[in-house]
Amino acid sequence: MKVAILGNGQLGDMMRQAGQRIGIEVNLLDIDNDELPGDDVIITAEREHWPDNAFTSALQGHPGWLNRAAFAALTNRQKQKAVLDELDLPTAPWCIPEVGMTQADLHQQLGPDIFLKSASGGYDGRGQQRLRLSEPKRLPDWFEDAVAEQAIIYDTEVSIIGARNAQGKVVCYRLTENRHDHGVLTMSLSINASDRFSALQAKAKQMLNQVMEALDYIGVMTIEFFVVGEQLLINEIAPRVHNSGHWTQAGASISQFELHIRAVCSLPLPQPEQPGASMMINLLGTKYDQKWLDHSASQLHWYGKNWRPGRKMGHLNFYHQERQHLARWLADLDLPASYAPARAWALARLQMTE
Ligand code: ATP
Ligand code: MG
Repeated sequence: MKVAILGNGQLGDMMRQAGQRIGIEVNLLDIDNDELPGDDVIITAEREHWPDNAFTSALQGHPGWLNRAAFAALTNRQKQKAVLDELDLPTAPWCIPEVGMTQADLHQQLGPDIFLKSASGGYDGRGQQRLRLSEPKRLPDWFEDAVAEQAIIYDTEVSIIGARNAQGKVVCYRLTENRHDHGVLTMSLSINASDRFSALQAKAKQMLNQVMEALDYIGVMTIEFFVVGEQLLINEIAPRVHNSGHWTQAGASISQFELHIRAVCSLPLPQPEQPGASMMINLLGTKYDQKWLDHSASQLHWYGKNWRPGRKMGHLNFYHQERQHLARWLADLDLPASYAPARAWALARLQMTE
């Protein structure tokens, strides 16, 4: 069995590595200049945005191209919100800005604090603008091809990652708690035997199930949520493996990358074991440094990409049966000063007595 992945970034590469381990050949397809693979190859994606070119249009007719309908429904934020409304799933109040609308009109509809997000192409907080009633500004020229949503005052952010196979079997990891700084994920925590999210886990799984079933989706899907009291509001859905699931490489018996390959290839899909506590730290705009290797417990994944400020260059995974060990490791870890707020956030959770 052969798998090809649209996109050749780090997510594709980690799926390639995971496939290789279990004896499945995975090749990455460059969106700009690749030839289509043979008809017997299963084709999946590591990204949900791609340019409309000869290659990506030919791909739509390939018999092995999975999730055509799901991509059409989810990759545009306006369409994704409409799907969520149709399924009666909770989101932040939102609207599509109309021609002639002013910032004041949007505030009247959605309140004093708003996120304006371009309908397509944004990631890691890009393609977004914050609108505050107290700070009138010129609306961007992509304003009418966007969604506007109320800024939610949330307790925390979590995500659920799960996979569905062609027979409709679904398995999920437990909720991951995520810390974003300036719209970019900095750290994720996934802690076993944590009572904090036990009431929310079933709700999140039910929502993921509902979306995957409605779209007849095959593979790994992620839903990001805002937690407000006992309520989960869906922030967004990613039809792919996700940065907040990188901890599964260290903390689960089957990583999200392997789970995706298993699901798309109709290989066995048991519920992954996830016995202890895991912590993932994104290396954002950091240069390669051997110090990441000079730690008995840190698992470095370096993506080998050209450096840019703030760019996701790699990540560190830590796993231990006891979360207090993660707290000790984190307290001593040499991280840039910009990680101070995220470190304090994680320490508070890892040291918490429930
Ligand atoms: P990524 O692709 O990295 O997940 P993205 O660019 O698709 O990010 P979002 O997930 O929409 O962007 O937003 C990034 C972060 O910005 C969220 O995780 C959250 O921290 C904050 N954010 C976005 N929308 C809202 C909102 N309506 N209310 C409060 N915070 C928000
Ligand atoms: Mg997001």
